[in-house]
Amino acid sequence: MYDLIVAGGGPAGSMTAREAALQGLDTLILEKETFPRYKPCGGALSSKAASLLDFPLSDDICERTITGARVHFRDRVLEKHKGYNLTTLIDRSRFDYHLLQKAKEAGADISMQKVMDFQEKDGHISVKTNAGIYQSQFLVIASGCQDKLKNRILGPDRKDCMGICLVADIEEEDRKIEERLAGILDIHFGVAEGGYGWIFPHRGYYSVGIGGLSSRLHHPRQAMLQFLRENGFSQRQKIHGHLIPQGGNKTRAALGRVLLAGDAAGFVDAFTGEGICYALASGKIAGQVIGEVPANEVALAYQERCKKDFGEELRYALFFCKMMHRYPEIFLRILACQEEVLDMYIEIAAAKISYKDFMRWLLPRIPINLLRTL
Ligand SMILES: Cc1cc2nc3c(=O)[nH]c(=O)nc-3n(C[C@H](O)[C@H](O)[C@H](O)COP(=O)(O)OP(=O)(O)OC[C@H]3O[C@@H](n4cnc5c(N)ncnc54)[C@H](O)[C@@H]3O)c2cc1C
Repeated sequence: MYDLIVAGGGPAGSMTAREAALQGLDTLILEKETFPRYKPCGGALSSKAASLLDFPLSDDICERTITGARVHFRDRVLEKHKGYNLTTLIDRSRFDYHLLQKAKEAGADISMQKVMDFQEKDGHISVKTNAGIYQSQFLVIASGCQDKLKNRILGPDRKDCMGICLVADIEEEDRKIEERLAGILDIHFGVAEGGYGWIFPHRGYYSVGIGGLSSRLHHPRQAMLQFLRENGFSQRQKIHGHLIPQGGNKTRAALGRVLLAGDAAGFVDAFTGEGICYALASGKIAGQVIGEVPANEVALAYQERCKKDFGEELRYALFFCKMMHRYPEIFLRILACQEEVLDMYIEIAAAKISYKDFMRWLLPRIPINLLRTL
């Protein structure tokens, strides 16, 4: 009988398990893949996300420091640099492996097995894997958004609340990467049917991808090939596709002794697609709450803490995303074509301001900014 079983050893699962193990809980992570494993990702770890880690990341994980952004919208290109770190581009498989090792160091058991099903009965959880049955007091489902375990708590996936991303890691000499994108993220709005495209400069390769809402992006592969072509990349790349939840919608994140963390709970910034930050944040809260709160209060306490710590931020991000889909021309002409607006916006990634602060700053300026775009 474990105190806690965690399904999935990504950032949300490892963070949950580490936090719980540090509090002395008997914890088991069940992960279906052998680590290090590939995870489709742009690899942008925002300063906000990095601030949630209480241990350093080595040089082979941190590939590049990002201090600015270049945004494209139609024929306009705008670039803004800050004098400080906004985001670190990481090697995602090494990062996830490191987090898993940290959970192990803290005392969590790890076993490579796929969780197939679970049942809550008589005050405990019975977890069925492809190799056996385990018992625990609590279960945290941190198995991402493509796995079906979360649907036992959330019901069926809603297509209008799901995004799709395609990504290719494209090898390039560091010298050429430096020349093209020294320390900046390259963001292309107006592609992928209201989503965006990205070119991120890693070490020895670019992460190139597109993302948009599944309900709008009917031909994602064609959109990706077009994006590659338009940006001077060969179309003969290995392209990986992955779903991404649209965060900020009202859903439950816990029921009884079962909690959802990270992508499984839909904790992703709907506007940017940033999810590592919320996977780490929700995992940390899950591990803490299970250790601290009486069993019958865990589900409520977990949801309240998530709401308090980042719920508002995700709701504002969803509002931004909806504005972009509703009034794309106006919205993007303000965000992607006005230097002072972009300058302010990128401070969100550095956790210097929240979406709410940004909105408060922007609203009184909208009329003048609109005039400037004409
Ligand atoms: C193309 C793409 C680019 C992205 N770029 C960024 C970015 O640049 N920055 C950012 O912050 N976010 C980005 N995201 C979002 C980010 O990747 C996710 O939000 C983050 O990975 C969520 O972490 P997680 O631990 O919840 O889930 P995951 O990272 O998906 O981990 C889930 C784990 O559970 C395991 N698993 C699944 N099913 C089972 C099962 N039944 N039993 C046991 N184990 C199971 C999986 O093998 C996996 O290891 C991107 C997403 C996509 C798709």
